Amino acid sequence: MASAPLRNPLSAFVLAILISALLAGVAGYASTYIPFIEFRLFALGFALFAVGALAGRRIFIGSLGFVGAYLGAFVGLLLAQQLFWFNAYAELIALGLALPAGAGGFMMGKVGVHRLARSQQTTPGLRRCSSCGARVGASAHKCWSCKATLTY
Ligand SMILES: [Zn+2]
Repeated sequence: MASAPLRNPLSAFVLAILISALLAGVAGYASTYIPFIEFRLFALGFALFAVGALAGRRIFIGSLGFVGAYLGAFVGLLLAQQLFWFNAYAELIALGLALPAGAGGFMMGKVGVHRLARSQQTTPGLRRCSSCGARVGASAHKCWSCKATLTY
């Protein structure tokens, strides 16, 4: 357990919230340079999808990626608006714009599930060369890298 803390779904979840909050805060701050509110919200929607996707990268569960990215983006956006862009609709904007972030997190969570499933499928077929450590196929007789004869 302690040897791979980032594989722990809960710590990955907390990490996703933190990353999402931080990046959403940065995106919220950067958006104050965009002059019109329509453009600002539009650009933020895309930026936050990317934020959610980045935040959800370590998560292997889609719904967890959604919640993590959504919560983080909501907090980050709310803070960014309180600090740099005071407006009467801060909560509404944060609630709405956290959605694309959640979608990004969900998407990456799903990709993560597929990635995990695929790696579990291919791992039993993979061996390592005993002399150089290169990955070799299950049916290989000679190492492609150091040309050692594979005995097992
Ligand atoms: Zn080798």
